[in-house]
Amino acid sequence: MIPTKYIFVTGGVASSLGKGIISASLAKLLQARGYMVTIQKLDPYINVDPGTLNPYEHGECYVTEDGAETDLDLGHYERFLGIPTSQANNVTTGRIYQSVINKERRGDYLGKTVQVIPHITDEIKRRVKLLGGRNKYDFVITEIGGTVGDIESLPYVEAVRQLKWELGDQQVLNIHLTLVPYLQSSGELKTKPTQHSVKMLLETGVQPNILVLRTSHELSEELRKKVALFCNVEPDSVIQSIDVSTIYEVPLLMQQQGLDATVLRKMGMEVTGEPELKPWKDFLQKLQHPRFTTRIALVGKYVELPDAYISINESFKHAGAMNDCRVEVTYLHSEQIDESNYKGLLKGFNGILVAPGFGDRGIEGKILAARYARENNIPFLGICLGLQCAVVEFARHVAGLDKAHSTEMALKTPDPVIDLMEAQKGITEKGGTMRLGAYPCVIRKDTKTFEAYGTVEVSERHRHRYEFNNKYLEAFEKLGMIATGTNPETSLVEIMEIPAHKWFVGVQFHPEYSSTVLKPHPLFVAFIKATLTKEK
Ligand code: GLN
Repeated sequence: MIPTKYIFVTGGVASSLGKGIISASLAKLLQARGYMVTIQKLDPYINVDPGTLNPYEHGECYVTEDGAETDLDLGHYERFLGIPTSQANNVTTGRIYQSVINKERRGDYLGKTVQVIPHITDEIKRRVKLLGGRNKYDFVITEIGGTVGDIESLPYVEAVRQLKWELGDQQVLNIHLTLVPYLQSSGELKTKPTQHSVKMLLETGVQPNILVLRTSHELSEELRKKVALFCNVEPDSVIQSIDVSTIYEVPLLMQQQGLDATVLRKMGMEVTGEPELKPWKDFLQKLQHPRFTTRIALVGKYVELPDAYISINESFKHAGAMNDCRVEVTYLHSEQIDESNYKGLLKGFNGILVAPGFGDRGIEGKILAARYARENNIPFLGICLGLQCAVVEFARHVAGLDKAHSTEMALKTPDPVIDLMEAQKGITEKGGTMRLGAYPCVIRKDTKTFEAYGTVEVSERHRHRYEFNNKYLEAFEKLGMIATGTNPETSLVEIMEIPAHKWFVGVQFHPEYSSTVLKPHPLFVAFIKATLTKEK
């Protein structure tokens, strides 16, 4: 086993250039060459984790199997690599400071003054090495959030500098991603911001080894040479990342320019053969040349920011490709759906998905969407709050419990069909206190749920405080909505289904967190399939 190699991906010039996708693409290429790879994200903000952040602030909160609420980039890592990440894969400044302060309170620093250097930087290095030190991975790719030059990124860049110094260039490599803007008026690509950004890195003592330039236009050979010369890197270490229609093309574009081979060579490793990318290319072929199209309404309240539902979106792509089908997703704002317009707004879709969420804003719109799907035999997938809405809707319009609700929205409802979990009562802190992470679920045979999974025991990831109130289960089952998935230890209802409907499934967990390119989630696959079939 080679000692773990560390690759740091930093960003300059602007944020949102796709560091996560570049990291995941490189990881995919190394994995496809047979190496064990993992990816980590270091986020420079003070929140301990993004769990308490509004999705409008930071997009979706992704949840790992071990119950960590993390940055959405971890979703990309899992979707690309097909291996689970964990709490150790996402570390924020808040978490770093929390550990250092806890150590200080315990007296671990033996009376020393606790400072950013060396104590914070040591803790950053420890968190990076924690992933590498288990002889599990050949490569740990660490993406540093934010932009080089930000005050809050400084300790991270300093930690990279120290690690490079300690372990040397063959064990620690820096890839810097920048933007090369295109000036419409003169028809030119400009490299000056890249040069400045590299200078900024150099000021902190880090010489990047490879530059990835995000661009809307092809970079000429001449331009690459110029960047190489002024930024002090080898010409073959200037790689372009051109805008593409799907993120899943990026690994192939990186491979065509030899990113993986360059990394291996620079880290003193032998470059033999090519990465095995056939399954990936097959997926891409299906994604880009589908035979069918299906139209899905995604009903949620964070629809202005598609990043809020990024895992659901990607799950549709994986499941669509599996069904040879393009999934056209239309976002419907649940706050804008009401009694007067819901039939018109929801008409014509092949399937309806009601998204996860919190609080009562837009809740009646979601309940109406579930009603429309149920009454019109339209395939329906309700996720977390989406399941809870379907349950409330069924209670009100099938079971005749007019005032039924979730106690999250109506504390005094006479029929709390969705209620706070026993274990949640008395919890007042918000951070990391929900029912989080993977729990087992047993599937009832001879149901559409079972047909989708093809197995009785599954494990799914959660992020919720409320649950189906089992007092109503018998009545619901008699009326035609049955529990098809339950937690074997607590009997908590995990999945509800209407067997008489074409395909109506609601899940308390989040299937979207575990759908990957090469292993789409079975419920998404079955949902899309149901939207394509005509027969009942
Ligand atoms: N607000 C609901 C709960 O806490 C649903 C959560 C979700 O959709 N992730 O149970």
